[in-house]
Amino acid sequence: MRIVLLGAPGSGKGTQAQRLAERNGIPQISTGDLLRAAVARGTALGLAAKAAMEGGRLVDDALVLGMIRERLGEPDVRAGFILDGFPRNLIQAAALDGLLAELGQPLDAVVQFEVDSAELVRRISGRRSCADCGRVFNVLTSPPPTGAAAMCPGTGAPHRLIQRADDNEATVAERLRVYDEKTRPLIDFYRARGLLRTIDAAGEVNAVTQRLARALAPAAPAAAARVRKGAAKSAARAKSAARAAKSRRPGTRATARRAKSARKKTPARAARKKHAAAMRSRRSGARRRTRR
Ligand code: ADP
Repeated sequence: MRIVLLGAPGSGKGTQAQRLAERNGIPQISTGDLLRAAVARGTALGLAAKAAMEGGRLVDDALVLGMIRERLGEPDVRAGFILDGFPRNLIQAAALDGLLAELGQPLDAVVQFEVDSAELVRRISGRRSCADCGRVFNVLTSPPPTGAAAMCPGTGAPHRLIQRADDNEATVAERLRVYDEKTRPLIDFYRARGLLRTIDAAGEVNAVTQRLARALAPAAPAAAARVRKGAAKSAARAKSAARAAKSRRPGTRATARRAKSARKKTPARAARKKHAAAMRSRRSGARRRTRR
């Protein structure tokens, strides 16, 4: 499964990406998380990204693309991935297309999360994440975790909940504006490529998880069934054509045509035929030479 989750800040991409990643055993790749980690470590990338992030603006494309190229080159990505927060504008989307084509791993789907803006603001103001493991919680929309879920898998101690520096009112307004201007056009970009699925991402987290699973499920079995049906049909056609040809009974014209096309369609048979013709012409050349 290779998918992109597309949606405004606070639409729940991160939460759902974490769940999908755990269920499918594939990595969640969040450019926001990667950039925050770079800022926390104080790397050159982090220093270059910090001001844009604090202002709610997009980080420079070249920096983000370099980071993504490196991440998509890691071995765990071969089993699939969930991109969360990337791409965020048309330049990034086009670059991703090129990169995945290079890797021979095109996207399977892009899921757009739809939530109205009042709900987005409410979610963002209640959002907290664990400083150690990065798990996301919401003190306004979901009860605080209890039991095993209250413990951080990183430290074994209770989660240390913190609020992100850019989850304040002024920065949130700018992030929503940037989403509308730069990221929203990706909806049409992916719709035109036949990859877009849209889900209602309002309401309870588990309900959204189910909607997401439904949005991702139908394509796979339907496509697989189409492939199976097509393969069964052509196998049956080739078999009956081969039977008719073998019995040497004069078949109908349609059977003969099918037999011919079934023969034509086999690359191995074509290669054998080409080889036999080459051998014949080589032998006749040799005969001509010995006669002379
Ligand atoms: P959200 O989607 O809630 O705004 P993210 O964690 O995805 O949060 O991103 C936080 C910030 O990181 C963004 O506001 C932006 O400054 C930066 N960022 C994340 N992803 C990208 C990206 N693909 N391109 C440019 N900047 C990005």
